[in-house]
Parts: sequence; structure tokens; C-alpha cells
Amino acid sequence: MHLARFPRARFAHLPTPLEAAPRLGAEIGVPRLFIKRDDCTGLAGGGNKTRKLEFLLGDALAKGADTLVTQGAVQSNHVRQTAAAAARHGMACEIILEERTGSKAVDYNGSGNVLLDRLLGASIRNVPGGTDMNAELAKTAEEVRARGGKPYVIPGGGSNAIGALGYVDCAIELVRQADEQGLVIDRIVTATGSAGTHAGLVAGLALIGANIPVLGIGVRAPKETQEANVHKLALETAALLGHEDRVTREMTLANCDYVGAGYGLIDEGVIDALKLAARTEGLLFDPVYTGKAVKGLIALGREGAFKNETVVFLHTGGAQGLFGYHGEMEGSLR
Ligand SMILES: *Cc1c(COP(=O)(O)O)cnc(C)c1O
Repeated sequence: MHLARFPRARFAHLPTPLEAAPRLGAEIGVPRLFIKRDDCTGLAGGGNKTRKLEFLLGDALAKGADTLVTQGAVQSNHVRQTAAAAARHGMACEIILEERTGSKAVDYNGSGNVLLDRLLGASIRNVPGGTDMNAELAKTAEEVRARGGKPYVIPGGGSNAIGALGYVDCAIELVRQADEQGLVIDRIVTATGSAGTHAGLVAGLALIGANIPVLGIGVRAPKETQEANVHKLALETAALLGHEDRVTREMTLANCDYVGAGYGLIDEGVIDALKLAARTEGLLFDPVYTGKAVKGLIALGREGAFKNETVVFLHTGGAQGLFGYHGEMEGSLR
């Protein structure tokens, strides 16, 4: 494996820190808890999509594109980071936002990531929940072509094999940091959604032979669907690197018991997780992804699932989305 063979634009702040979180760890039965701070990747608030976008922008620029086209839920962090990557490379950015949660709240629809998308100069079009988003991407790309532009379509979450290379790189970076610190990692825990982060980690760890299990905590799909999506993308990513044979089905593990009422819908468990992390470590997690994953981490930790383990939780960012959930959180902030 040799990542330098792939075109890459460089704008992420790397390596991101690997920090101990002993006060949160002590509260949840994971005394050796560490946080990999991918909320600190640096692009317009940072987050996990920035690593993927380095490889996606590399490909887009190599192909001569002048317009990025992508999609996400209204409070998508991926969309915000894509809009920033476009601005930084002098490209236009066409965004399609799916009204996936059905929320009509002013903050949800205007603050948080939406405010930032607009500040970053992206063109935004909203479509109802349940719309065929791949068809919308194709339609928008066609419109860009019709007016003489050169579109580059990035799938939701930046989750294809090229984007997942960003998390192959993260796996290498994390293992090197742990080696330098003399830290033996027993398990990595991450939120898993459009699957690129989880799949890239699995492929990267498999290719370097690190033998560290990754537990994805789901935010949308049921376990079987999520594991199948992650496995498929991990295989595609390893194949892009010439080593499909190294990824096996058992390497993909997801727990989807903490989704609650659905994607982007928060509950008291999520708010409690956000408060606990903020008040023990000063860490800001997000309502849609990391808050749900930390809710799962807390529940599993307290059940003893990580007994005697050194656990690295990957902080994938998203705190900008908090501002879209002011109304939901207002009553629970004491
Ligand atoms: C997109 C996102 C995730 C999920 O990553 P995927 O690669 O889509 O699975 C997790 N956390 C945050 C904050 C995100 O924005």
C-alpha cells in the first residue's frame, strides 16, 4: 500500500491529537479512554469529512472539475466541509439538502451548518425527505454541464473508496501515534453513518496488519444493513489499494442499538452524553453522530463491555450542528 500514488489536495491539519480522557473514562467504566481528535482537522470547523475530501479534491482537480456537487441532510457536516473545500480551491459548490428529519424549527433550518454553508458561498437546494438523492446529484451535475461547467459529484458523506482513503491514512496515523506513546489500543470506537470512516479504518488497519477491532455505533441503519455497507466499502477500498484479500467480514462490527427515534432525532440519552462529555472533559460532541456514539459508549462501558481495555474513541466532529438543536436541548441544560 502506498497512499502517495493517489492524487491528494492538502488542507487538513494533521496529525490530529490523540488525547487521554480520564475523567469521562472514570465515569463510564473505561479508565483508559483516549480520544482521537478528528474534530480538529481544521477546515471550517473540521470533522471527519475533511480527511476524505483531501483525496476527493485531489481526484476532482486531476479531472479538471470546477464545481463540486454533493448532498446531505439539512444539518450535514459533510456538506459544510465540502462547501469550504470548494471555496478554498476556487470552485463552485452545488448542494442538495434532504429534509430527512422533517424538522421545521428555525434553528435547524437556518443555524448551525446551514448558516455556515451559506457563509461559505454554496448554492443550496432543499428537497423533501425520501427523495432519490443519487438521482438529484445526477440531475444537478447535468445542469452544471449544460451551462458549461465541469461537475465533480461527491456521494453523501464522501463515502466511496476514494474518500475512504482518508481513513486508511487515519488508521496509519493513529497506530503510529500509539506506537510513539507506547499505547496498546485494544479497540477503536466510532460513529458509523455513510460508512466511509468505518470502512477506511477497517481497510487501513487490515492492510497494516494492526489487529485492532473497530466498533461502529450506528446512527441510522439497522445493524445488518450497516455492517453490509461498511464491509462492501472496506473491500472496495482495499481493492483500490490492491489488497482486497486482507479484509474479512468478521472485521466489520456495528452496534445499532442507540439510534433512538431515527437519524438526526435526539433524545435525553444523547443530551446526557453531550453534557457528560462537556462537563468532564470540555469536549463538544454533536447531536446527530458523535452524541449517539458516546451515548452507546457510555451504556456499553457501564455494562462492562470494555473491561480492562484501552479504548480510542474517534471524535469525528460535528459540534457546529449543536446550534441547529437549540430548541430540543433548551429544557435539558441544567
Ligand atoms: C458524517 C459524520 C459521521 C459518520 O461518518 P461516515 O463516514 O458517514 O460513516 C460521524 N460523525 C460526524 C460528526 C459526521 O459528520
